[in-house]
Amino acid sequence: MSLPAYVYDLSALRDHVSAIRDAMEGVELYYAAKANPDPELLRVLSPLVDGFEVASAGELAHVRAAVPGRPLALGGPGKTDEELRSEVARIHVESPGELRRLLAMGRPAGILLRANLDLPVEGASLAMGGGATPFGMDPGSIEECLTLLKGQEAVTVHGLHAHLASGLDAPQMLTLAEGVLDYARSLGLTEINLGGGMAVSYAHPDARFDWVTYGRGLRALRRPGETLRVEPGRSISVYCGRYVTRVIDVKRVHGELFAVVAGGTHHLRTPATKGHSQPLVIERPGEPITIVGQLCTPKDVLAAHVPVRLEPGDVVEFLMAGAYAWNISHHDFLMHPHPAFRYTLSR
Ligand SMILES: *Cc1c(COP(=O)(O)O)cnc(C)c1O
Repeated sequence: MSLPAYVYDLSALRDHVSAIRDAMEGVELYYAAKANPDPELLRVLSPLVDGFEVASAGELAHVRAAVPGRPLALGGPGKTDEELRSEVARIHVESPGELRRLLAMGRPAGILLRANLDLPVEGASLAMGGGATPFGMDPGSIEECLTLLKGQEAVTVHGLHAHLASGLDAPQMLTLAEGVLDYARSLGLTEINLGGGMAVSYAHPDARFDWVTYGRGLRALRRPGETLRVEPGRSISVYCGRYVTRVIDVKRVHGELFAVVAGGTHHLRTPATKGHSQPLVIERPGEPITIVGQLCTPKDVLAAHVPVRLEPGDVVEFLMAGAYAWNISHHDFLMHPHPAFRYTLSR
């Protein structure tokens, strides 16, 4: 096999999402394409999800080409007029200004208002709401939108959208959901998109988000006539991807061991952006070693001080490389070749 390579286990993806689908019975499941828009993954996901969340005209065209005819929700700050003209099931409106531009177009559209509510998101790895962020609207701006929507029929407000944080576990997500639902009900809105952000642990790849508890909790919270929807990305696709490469050089510098592998964070930027060691398969334990890529920057660290014995020529398999990995990386920095892409589907 040509290395470095991204290797996707499509059977594992299908099994994982089928289990989520079962656990989330009664709740609509959209996949946030920005986590990994690889067409092979989208095609496996398509029959198992209710739709896809896209965050740009580019993603929209890409997802539509890969999985034609599926319901799409268009989110993201800074939508252009061209994007606001998209024919999608839902537009997630981010500001009163955006809504004014949409209304001025005079065309039919179904929207959710994206709320940034002051709800507790302690322990989150990324907070998108609960304070001054460019995402969504505070209650004052939501009221302004509801006023703008009066006396016109082209744009229909179906409900509320809230993607407030990433990295929360199921009980924390349920607490957040309760707050969002209370707020939606106070406005008489019955379709609620609770966003994504379900926790994954790069330190403990086997510790998975508790979808059974989350699904059961959401079914208990839902009132008759309400539609609940979630739009996870990372927690869906992260586990099905591995980044596989080979050791080029092993060296000791001022007492510390380093393994230099082919490729690096220009292929798999996740450890650099999240500040973690990318988990990897350890076959032979050994003295702690730092695994770096080929880039001429000290930030090109894939995993630091890992207790594994490596020699030139050894294959290194990084796990949890199926989300926010290849597609968020700076591919052409230093102009090394791109990795190969392989897909396995055993059943
Ligand atoms: C990024 C994003 C998601 C997906 O988040 P994950 O952490 O990948 O689950 C969902 N909704 C919105 C609005 C987003 O910006």
